[in-house]
Amino acid sequence: MSRVVVLGGAESGVGAAVLAKVKGFDVFLSDNGNIKEEYAAMLRKWDVPFEQGGHTPELILNADEVVKSPGIPSTAPMVKALAERGTHIVSEIEFASRYDSAKKICITGSNGKTTTTSLIHYLLKEAGLNVGLGGNIGKSYALQVATEQHDYYVLEISSFQLDDTYDFRPDIAIITNITPDHLDRYDHKMENYVRAKFKITRNLRPEDCFIFDSDDAITIDHLSKIVLKAKMLPFSQEKKNFEQGAWLDDSRIVVRYEQSESEIYLRELALGGRHNIYNSMAAALAAKASGIEDEVIRNSLMTFSPIEHRLEPVLSIRDVLYINDSKATNVDSAWYALECQTRPVIWIVGGTDKGNDYSVLNELVRDKVKAIVCLGVDNSKIHAAFAPIIGEDRIVDTKSAREAVQVSSTLAVAGDVVLLSPCCASFDLFKNYEDRGTQFKNAVRSL
Ligand code: ADP
Repeated sequence: MSRVVVLGGAESGVGAAVLAKVKGFDVFLSDNGNIKEEYAAMLRKWDVPFEQGGHTPELILNADEVVKSPGIPSTAPMVKALAERGTHIVSEIEFASRYDSAKKICITGSNGKTTTTSLIHYLLKEAGLNVGLGGNIGKSYALQVATEQHDYYVLEISSFQLDDTYDFRPDIAIITNITPDHLDRYDHKMENYVRAKFKITRNLRPEDCFIFDSDDAITIDHLSKIVLKAKMLPFSQEKKNFEQGAWLDDSRIVVRYEQSESEIYLRELALGGRHNIYNSMAAALAAKASGIEDEVIRNSLMTFSPIEHRLEPVLSIRDVLYINDSKATNVDSAWYALECQTRPVIWIVGGTDKGNDYSVLNELVRDKVKAIVCLGVDNSKIHAAFAPIIGEDRIVDTKSAREAVQVSSTLAVAGDVVLLSPCCASFDLFKNYEDRGTQFKNAVRSL
C-alpha cells in the first residue's frame, strides 16, 4: 500500500489526511507544533495515526508522497530532507483535485479573494447549482472531496496554496489583482510573487476561462510575457468594449460573454466601493461563463450581504457610522476603503507594518481624514507619514480596540465615519484580524 504522509495538522492537512484514508492509502500526519483538539478528534474519528510537537524522521522519510500544508515553508528542515531524497511533495489542492471531477472556479490575487469567492458561491447557489465553497475559506477542499458530492467548487486559493501544485487545473481561473504583499515568502522579489499567483493559469485549456483585472499593470505586464490558451475575460473600469469581458459604462457594468451582452446598474450592487465594482465584475463574468442567467446574476449581486471584517457597517451612534474593515491588512485595501467614504473620516490605523509605503494614501488622507487614531505598538511610521499632511495634533496613539473606539467617539461629530481599516497585520496587539475586528465591534456596541 502506498504511504502518504501529511505535514501540518490544521484545516487543509487534516482534510488531506481524511481524503487519503478514504482513498485507501497508508496515511500518517505529523505536526511540529500542537494540533487543535477539534482536528485531533477528527483524525481519531477517521482512524488516521498522527503525531504532534515534533517530526519523527522514520515515520516521514518513508513516504511515497508528502502533502505539505501551505503554512510550512519549503525551507523547513523536514521539507528540505524530503526534497533531498526526491520525495514528491504536493499541496492539499493538488492532492484533492486528483479525486474530483467537479467544475472548479478558483480565485487568487492580493486583495478581494474572499469577497469575490463568496460572491461567486452565492451566485451559483442562487442559480440552484450544487456548489461547494472551500480553499482558504471554511472547510478544506480535500475534506469536501472526501465526504461530499458537488458539481461545482468555488475555491479561494492563496499563493501559498498554489506552491506545490502541478496538474491542478481550474475550469475558470481568476486573479483579482496583484499588489505587493507577503513578499517575505518570495525572497522579497515581486517577480516570484507574480509567478506564484499566475500558477493558477498554468494548465488552462482553450475551453477554460481566465478572468483578470485589465487595469492592473502588474497583471497586464505578466500576461504580455506568457502564452495562455484559455478564453481571456478581462474586466476594467478604465477600458471599454472588450470582445469578451466586463467594463464600466457610466453608471452600469456591461458584461459581454460569447454572443450575449448584459448590464448591471451600479446603484443596484449590494456591495459599495470601487473595489467591489471590480469584484462584482469578476463574479458576473464567472457566473456568465457558468451559464447562469442574467436575471439571477443581477438579483444575486443586489442581495448579497457584506462579509464580516470587510467594510462591514457595525452601528450608527448619534449619526456617527462605525465601519469594521479589519481585514484591510495592506495599503491597497485601505486605499479602497478610504476612497469610497463620502463623509469625514476618523481613521483607525496601525499594527504590524509589513514594509508599507503610505505615500499612495496622502491625497485621500488630505481630502477625507479628520483625525487619525493609531492602534499599534509602534506607530512612528504613521506619524512620520501623515503628520505633514493633517498635522501632528490630529494623530492620537492608542493601545487597545476599546481605547481606539473611545477616543474616536470623542473626536467624531454627527455625520462622521469611524473607519477601522488598519493597513497592517494585527499580531502586535491581537490574535489575528478577526480578533481585532471583533474587539472593535464589541467596543462600539458598548459605547
Ligand atoms: P482577501 O481574501 O484577498 O484578503 P478580502 O475580500 O478578504 O480579500 O478583502 C480584504 C480587504 O481588501 C478588505 O479590506 C476589502 O475591503 C479590501 N478589498 C476587497 N476587494 C478588493 C479589491 N478588489 N481591491 C482592493 N481591495 C479590496
